[in-house]
Amino acid sequence: MPHSPITRQSLAAADAADSLAPCRDRFALPENILYLDGNSLGPLPAATPAAIADAVTRQWGQGLIRSWNDEAWIDLPASIGAAIAPIIGAAPDSVIACDSVSVNLFKLAAAALGMRPGRRVIVCETEDFPTDRYILEGLATLADAEIRAVRRAEIAAALDQGTALLVLTHAHYASGEVHDMAALSTAAHAAGALILWDLSHSAGALDLHLDRDGADFAIGCGYKYLNGGPGAPAFAYVAARHRAGFHPPINGWMGHVAPFDFAAAYTPAPGVRRLLAGTPPILAMAALAAGVATFAGVDMRVAEAKSTALVAAFAALVAQTCPEFAVQPPVPRHSAQIVLRHPHGRRIMTALIARGVIGDFRPPDRLRFGFPALYTRFTDTWDAVQILRTILDTGEWQDSRFDTLGTVS
Ligand SMILES: *Cc1c(COP(=O)(O)O)cnc(C)c1O
Repeated sequence: MPHSPITRQSLAAADAADSLAPCRDRFALPENILYLDGNSLGPLPAATPAAIADAVTRQWGQGLIRSWNDEAWIDLPASIGAAIAPIIGAAPDSVIACDSVSVNLFKLAAAALGMRPGRRVIVCETEDFPTDRYILEGLATLADAEIRAVRRAEIAAALDQGTALLVLTHAHYASGEVHDMAALSTAAHAAGALILWDLSHSAGALDLHLDRDGADFAIGCGYKYLNGGPGAPAFAYVAARHRAGFHPPINGWMGHVAPFDFAAAYTPAPGVRRLLAGTPPILAMAALAAGVATFAGVDMRVAEAKSTALVAAFAALVAQTCPEFAVQPPVPRHSAQIVLRHPHGRRIMTALIARGVIGDFRPPDRLRFGFPALYTRFTDTWDAVQILRTILDTGEWQDSRFDTLGTVS
């Protein structure tokens, strides 16, 4: 494809040959919108409204408190975790759905520090998503640890005998660059340290193998590629070898081995269940379950390959049609997102959204577009780039009404 100009016809042929194309019906996408922001907020799955209505009307309304048992509400964190597990290459009982990414990072990083007494340094990346750094700095103050934030190229060299934990985001939130999980896990272990992966931009996008690639801990997002809805619960992973030996700092009753014994003394549940603190938000869990279910039967190797091909097609079309954009170098080889840079990026993105092409903007100059494999079509890349060309040709992005852009996350 990269050598001859891409046509809409060739992209339509790619859609016709795409084994994941039928998965688009699993979503209730609005008409006349090109949604290229599922990496920030996954779209509404077709099954979610009925699932939430059932949870509210029948399970809560009729079942009342009996539904904790009759509808297995109490097991939702573990059962959703087990459904997430194959998406990230993990054993079913090593994943639990709970809290936010931020809170899960705190719990697991604190537990990791406790497993490396005598070592006080947490190594992380300077350019990481801000919440990760904020959380680690707060933990360091509390636990008398030290943060060593380094650039991407210096990570392996920063590990030494004082390092307790290496925290990395697997796919970078802005650039889409992806770390080599196996190599960095090996490097951390060679230094005697543990490794914790933030999968917020990988889970549901890339072909992950947490168990195989040596991860000790991981956290990930429910509302991005997993389509769990705005503010969906996140998830946490603990490798089987650490199941009995990790101790999160929040001893909540839901993490007790027997919450309904109301015992005076805290005894942690075996395995990941001890990461639970308070009562799970069942209505949000119902939406997350429906979101995770959009991955039923999906081979993540196929999903990653499709997203990578979508990103490549979009990059080639931008080069072909809108040469005034710098595609963030390097174009990630395995990524479900891409960044274009432009000094007027904020106004251009706002003008795109006004025309129904929804991506997002990250300061200072990055227009970010996501290409989740389950519902994005190859022809979407063509249509989006044509609209981008139109906005540049008309100059409509220069309209001052596009000065403000209200987006979150
Ligand atoms: C989206 C994202 C988060 C989100 O954290 P929450 O606490 O769940 O809001 C965290 N880390 C990274 C890298 C992210 O991309």
